[in-house]
Amino acid sequence: MRQSTYLLPTLREAPAEAETISHRLMLRAGFIRQLAAGIYTYLPLGWRVLRKVESIVREEMDRAGAQEILMPAMQPAELWQESGRYQVYGPELIRLHDRHEREFALGPTHEEVVTTLVRNEIRSYRKLPINLYQIQTKFRDERRPRFGLLRGREFLMKDAYSFDLDWEGLDKSYWAMYDAYTRIFTRCGLNFRAVEADAGAIGGEGGTHEFMALADIGEDTIATCTQCEYAANLEKAEAGPGVSEYREVAVGEHEKFHTPNIRTIEQLTESLGVSADRFIKTLIYLADGQPVAVLVRGDHDANEVKVKNYLGATNVELADPETTRQVTGAPVGFAGPVGLKIPVLVDREVASMQAGIAGANEQDYHLRNVRPGRDFPVEKTGDFRNVLEGDRCPRCSGTLKFYRGIEVGHVFKLGTKYSEKLGAKYLDANGKEQVMIMGCYGIGVSRVLSAIVEQSHDDNGMIWPVAVAPFHVHLIPVSVKDEAQIKVAEELYDRLRQTGVEVLMDDRDERPGVKFKDSDLTGIPIRLTVGKGAGEGRVEYKERAQSESMDLSIEEAMDRIVKLVKESK
Ligand SMILES: [Zn+2]
Repeated sequence: MRQSTYLLPTLREAPAEAETISHRLMLRAGFIRQLAAGIYTYLPLGWRVLRKVESIVREEMDRAGAQEILMPAMQPAELWQESGRYQVYGPELIRLHDRHEREFALGPTHEEVVTTLVRNEIRSYRKLPINLYQIQTKFRDERRPRFGLLRGREFLMKDAYSFDLDWEGLDKSYWAMYDAYTRIFTRCGLNFRAVEADAGAIGGEGGTHEFMALADIGEDTIATCTQCEYAANLEKAEAGPGVSEYREVAVGEHEKFHTPNIRTIEQLTESLGVSADRFIKTLIYLADGQPVAVLVRGDHDANEVKVKNYLGATNVELADPETTRQVTGAPVGFAGPVGLKIPVLVDREVASMQAGIAGANEQDYHLRNVRPGRDFPVEKTGDFRNVLEGDRCPRCSGTLKFYRGIEVGHVFKLGTKYSEKLGAKYLDANGKEQVMIMGCYGIGVSRVLSAIVEQSHDDNGMIWPVAVAPFHVHLIPVSVKDEAQIKVAEELYDRLRQTGVEVLMDDRDERPGVKFKDSDLTGIPIRLTVGKGAGEGRVEYKERAQSESMDLSIEEAMDRIVKLVKESK
């Protein structure tokens, strides 16, 4: 491609609303342009990268035996009603209707459509297992679209769905996808971790892993062990055995003391001069509308997902102040476990305390010497808190370290959630009807672009790994008015392209400084500059990730480039 006529509008400054490095750089380098909040056009460079990521995904999915299809983005509402998700999905589902007033949704995901397809087309066990995938535009009406391609309302995803005869089959399909994902993200040049995750709203039994690209701007916290392979997201990460062991020591009766207007742990630690781990924090939640109390140590945060899973509830949320007042008899800030008439879930670390300070369920009062088991029941004890950095690993004697991550992929055991509801059944060898066992597997294809840029850039711009770079080589004749330079540049342009190397030639009549700045910004991995040495057949070779350039003969440069491009495939 020749840059003089190529749509590559670079900007000196990024629009102020671009908060993240990847968003800023992709705007500045002319990769994307926003059409509406969270909705983007891919310009030629952005589109080229997107297609490269897509083709890596496609190659690895095909290699894993999955079959590509393409399903419609527009889905009839009846399908979503059949699965029960039409209401549950909430305002993130974009709904519309046609001229006959029939309702539709723009698909954020395709379980309903693919399950219906398989239900209609597959009847015999001989046709299973099968894994169907597509690379397609998805829609999600985010409340707050941001971070460019990271949290958009329209985005490109690869989604795959496996259908198996039984749970052992699902296990195989699941790990085949896990391996394929590992290859995909490795080939994309990402620094990532596969972490255990909670099953979440999509529902289903069994395991699930998230593939997280490590990046400071990531919206998810992941906990990884410093010694073993254990890695989980914060929702899921299990607390290892606590440090404080319960010892039988005499503790006096609990006693009330005056704490006027002191509601938070911070205020308490300050006014009493006692560390936060000596307090028992009492939180009132509504689990499917029913109040429950959750006790965690003062220095810990309750984990709503763990509470939800323990109770088998569909929805768990902090109770409103009015409910808290009704349940505890005191305003928020003075709740405590003593005398509560609702179920009390006790975090293990609280259960193993000798005694602690807690709210008195009376305005402006707290209790000291509150003893687990004596002053409140500890029958419902479990892991109900978020882990902290430095906690013990649940699997070994190592400790947990935190990272921020961007979720780029997700593998998920669905089980029979959709096949049951939508009737995806097959006849087994004995002619008996059985429900298919499903898995689903997503990759945020457009998100991968942002994740790569977050991990791979410097002060001057992006640095694309060769495998997904928009072009392999940025060929820059320093002066387009210099005949010798143009001759060598044109010759290189043809020769490189004939060997399958993708070249963008900056044939603009611009100052060299402008050309080099733009080149660094776009992050094309190899820069080949044709300047003063052109007459002697010399060119300047520079890799974007390196600071040094080299003066090479045309043949030497050709060899290096061809080798580098080959290695990336
Ligand atoms: Zn460990």
